[in-house]
Amino acid sequence: MKVNNFSIVFVGTSSGKTSLKRFHSSLLVKSHSFNLLIDCGDGTSKALLSQGISIDLIDGILFSHLHPDHSAGFPSLIVQMKQLKRVKKLKIFCHKNLAEILRMFLHQTFVFMERSSFEIEYFEFEHGEKIVLSEDFKFISKQNSHLDEYVNYLDGRKAGFACSSFLLLLGERRVYYSADIGSEKDLDLFRDQKPEIIITEAAHIKWESILDYIETNQPEKVYLTHLGDELALELKQKIDSLPKILIDKIVLADDGLIVRI
Ligand SMILES: [Zn+2]
Repeated sequence: MKVNNFSIVFVGTSSGKTSLKRFHSSLLVKSHSFNLLIDCGDGTSKALLSQGISIDLIDGILFSHLHPDHSAGFPSLIVQMKQLKRVKKLKIFCHKNLAEILRMFLHQTFVFMERSSFEIEYFEFEHGEKIVLSEDFKFISKQNSHLDEYVNYLDGRKAGFACSSFLLLLGERRVYYSADIGSEKDLDLFRDQKPEIIITEAAHIKWESILDYIETNQPEKVYLTHLGDELALELKQKIDSLPKILIDKIVLADDGLIVRI
């Protein structure tokens, strides 16, 4: 009998546009040994509360990039942890360009860890590095093109410039999580690893590109997230008009969806 050791909870599935039906981006990957929250968009504390997920079970937070729909819930989530008198250390995983900004984000919002019952430890990674969370839970990041259009506005400031897509290694299973991407090319970042499960955002990529990817790579399942209300409606109609084999393969994620791996 196959035992599911991992589950992925779609905590928040909206895009940058605020919705009454969906919270901003956050994904919780649960395992028996480590529970990782990926991104922490505006309102993530409330999303967790509304889904009955204990904030205390989060062992670490991984950031893809710092757009507010992926990061603005961070100080507030730390405040909730402080109020619940958390004891265990919280691990923060981010590309090395983001760590100082995240530290300052807490500092500038008067969330001082010196006044807290728990510690935060930052793990700064380079793209391509394999990060080991536990014996059977690892991830690798790669830079995608989501932020490329912002390069000209940086004015020489390099800090904060990193946007990652992730390959999650869950036991023997490989899950690609695109986070926010720039184009369909980013879907191929881990193509050589042949991920069986694809979780892709759907706001910055054409529907046809998603179908092309499925046809070429034949993943087991594709989950679409990062959806505005109108886009969700449009994609639902498009999925419903597909042949049954594709309808069974493509899932439009809603907040609270739990996938067992
Ligand atoms: Zn986003």
